[in-house]
Amino acid sequence: MAEDAPLFVDVLIVGAGLSGIGAACHLSLQAPSKSYRILEARQTIGGTWDLFRYPGIRSDSDMFTLGYEFRPWKEAKAIADGPSILRYVQESAREYHVTENITFGTRVISATWSSEDRRWSVETEEVGTGTRAIWTCSFLFCNAGYYRYDSGYLPNFEGVDDFGGEVIHPQFWPESFDPTGKRIIVIGSGATAVTLVPALAKDAGHVTQLQRSPTYILTAPDKDRIADRLRRMLPSKVAYALVRTKNVIMNVLTYQLCQRFPDFVKQQFRKSLVAQLPEGFDIDKHFTPSYDPWDQRVCLDPNGSFFTAIRDGKVNVVTDTIERFTPTGILLTSGQGLEADVIVTATGLELQVLGGIRVEVDGVVLDVGSSVSYRGMMFDRVPNLAYTVGYTNASWTLKADLVARYVCRLLNYMDDYGFDVATPTLTDTSIETELSFNLSAGYIQRGSDQIPRQGTARPWKLKQIYPFDVVDLRFGKLTEDMSFSKARVAVSR
Ligand SMILES: Cc1cc2nc3c(=O)[nH]c(=O)nc-3n(C[C@H](O)[C@H](O)[C@H](O)COP(=O)(O)OP(=O)(O)OC[C@H]3O[C@@H](n4cnc5c(N)ncnc54)[C@H](O)[C@@H]3O)c2cc1C
Repeated sequence: MAEDAPLFVDVLIVGAGLSGIGAACHLSLQAPSKSYRILEARQTIGGTWDLFRYPGIRSDSDMFTLGYEFRPWKEAKAIADGPSILRYVQESAREYHVTENITFGTRVISATWSSEDRRWSVETEEVGTGTRAIWTCSFLFCNAGYYRYDSGYLPNFEGVDDFGGEVIHPQFWPESFDPTGKRIIVIGSGATAVTLVPALAKDAGHVTQLQRSPTYILTAPDKDRIADRLRRMLPSKVAYALVRTKNVIMNVLTYQLCQRFPDFVKQQFRKSLVAQLPEGFDIDKHFTPSYDPWDQRVCLDPNGSFFTAIRDGKVNVVTDTIERFTPTGILLTSGQGLEADVIVTATGLELQVLGGIRVEVDGVVLDVGSSVSYRGMMFDRVPNLAYTVGYTNASWTLKADLVARYVCRLLNYMDDYGFDVATPTLTDTSIETELSFNLSAGYIQRGSDQIPRQGTARPWKLKQIYPFDVVDLRFGKLTEDMSFSKARVAVSR
């Protein structure tokens, strides 16, 4: 930390990933009078898009909705590779003068609200030296992502240490890894496995995707022809806004179609699989999930490279459970043995909410798992704190943009009326609550006790459907179930 860095700011942002950088850009655009600082545990911008380095790393969402609403995505591919996304985040930070407002290598450990001081005290630790410091701020804006960076999820596989080859978790990909000629098993069936398998298959001797259960995989082109045409004809901002709207509508319709007519959608998936897989391939066993489409995130296969690799005989899929690792590979419950030089455990993430920060309000520790979230971005009875968790059923940034805009609107409203504290306050104590996310993804199921609850009606429930959330977060009354106060005078609205 620079010695002359101010230790008080109006808004303290935690995290310099896609959301944190976006939040800072929104602040500079819509609440320019507010001073802010980003505290980032790592030495670099980008979060997810810098951390993950495995071969083929890319988005699963189109960049017209994963990009920020205020800065057009101009590159050719709609489904972009990780380095391009990282570049986009870095360039956005430079363009909006965010980079100079980041303190790197500083992990936020705890945040304590004092109603007497009407401020947050935020304790930080310098990564590496452990040096502690205290920052204070009026408003705390947590953009710390949703998973741990220091460990990935690894099931308790028996005999891992017996395996004579290399075991790699995609979150910690070794820079020097060379797949050439190697027999590789990729364990998992999520987006990471579906991305990694065809990328590794280019040079590997052979790749086996080993999954416990199948996933829906959607083949789509990595370019958007309508977007390309519009971008040639119209100014970039206009074209971007149109394509973004088109893609939002398409995403919402697709999601609703999956939820309302799952059997019809399943038939369409099957038709596409029959067309792409070799004759006689056991689609029922390997590509027919037990759940409905979008009950878990649907994986994307840009340009069909995953299925091409299967057709070319470079990849085979095995659906079975692991009995144990052996010195030369994996023994399956069915008794079959798989031989490998390398085993990649694409087994998922470890959920972590609020960046692992211990939050305390006037001496009471916030238990996130039993708290009720307000509009999917604040907590009941926690003043001046917002957090960003993007969509799980659409592009993350659509929601991150909405949350950041809401925070700016709230801050401007407080300034206009001279308030310095805004506290979501649930007055109807009989309200029923439910989990904030309904995805049955492994990391959500495993970490469900850390996920905030939400009510069954707004503003304590966010629909998690972008067009509805636009109405709620962009235009919803700021005073709904929100107590505002100024020094000494309390006003409840
Ligand atoms: C491999 C992968 C692919 C993905 N693909 C897509 C996709 O295609 N579409 C989509 O919508 N979503 C996708 N996601 C979800 C993705 O995480 C989001 O799109 C987005 O990058 C999240 O940005 P973020 O800034 O909120 O969080 P992160 O990218 O996780 O960044 C959080 C930042 O906060 C910092 N931080 C955390 N805790 C603290 C602390 N206590 N103190 C200081 N700093 C802290 C971290 O170091 C990090 O830099 C993907 C996720 C992964 C893992």
